[in-house]
Amino acid sequence: MDRKNIEDALKLPPFEKGWVWLVGGGPGDPGLITVLGLHALGSADYILYDALIDETLLKLARPGVGLIFAGKRAGVTSCKQSDISAMLVDLAGKGNRVLRLKGGDPFVFGRGGEEAGALVEAGVPFRIVPGITAGIGGLAYAGIPVTHRDTNHAVTFITGHGADGKLPRLDWAAVAKGSQTLVLYMARKYAGEIAAALIAAGRRPDEPAAIVGNAARADQSVIVTDLGGLGAAAAASPSVSIIVIGENVRLRERLDWLAHSARQLSPT
Ligand code: SAH
Repeated sequence: MDRKNIEDALKLPPFEKGWVWLVGGGPGDPGLITVLGLHALGSADYILYDALIDETLLKLARPGVGLIFAGKRAGVTSCKQSDISAMLVDLAGKGNRVLRLKGGDPFVFGRGGEEAGALVEAGVPFRIVPGITAGIGGLAYAGIPVTHRDTNHAVTFITGHGADGKLPRLDWAAVAKGSQTLVLYMARKYAGEIAAALIAAGRRPDEPAAIVGNAARADQSVIVTDLGGLGAAAAASPSVSIIVIGENVRLRERLDWLAHSARQLSPT
């Protein structure tokens, strides 16, 4: 089935001129983008994309599309958030179909809410296309179910990086008690401090933890450690890493499907 047939069969909404679509591209593997995201890629006049986007996705854009890198690299702000929002408003105001392509899900620690707010303010029509967030899909690629009824009945998503660049002012004792599994985004820098706060609040130092670096990409790496060792392990992990703390990490021993499939595929 070609793309047009899929769009018709699923009755996808048209990407209209003057609209902005805020689309999640998923955590890495380009195949994880949604059908709506793919549809937007094929229709957009301009694409503003993040550093986390796999650039092979951009090959699916139409010829002549305006590609604008609107990301942050190596912790250096190369594109201010206010500039990105202003560009979205400006391009849409000129009658373009504008695709804002973000890593993971646009509304999960991705400033999608801020960009959508600017569009509301400016009266620009927009659609949100959710994506697979790293804290779920990235763990899945490491063989770690984000929930499992044998290990955790709750999961908490946390950013390790507040708007001011410091550790967010969370009630870490409440976090420690409130949820069996914790998933930390942007937490490499403060992983040791977070682990210490959790241990001080009663979590066991030998509780399993994992760091999935470059999840769902060809260079994915997984470090399995424990809460006590988390700070040191995080310091040695890639800059794009998702951290998970909880008993569900142990499920990887059986469910590491990527390693199993690599073994099955490799000649013996
Ligand atoms: N909106 C994104 C998150 C953006 S914040 C989402 O829903 O996934 C950026 C952080 O997300 C990174 O610092 C890292 O902690 C995490 N992240 C995003 N993509 C990742 C990937 N492929 N592998 C590991 N972590 C990832």
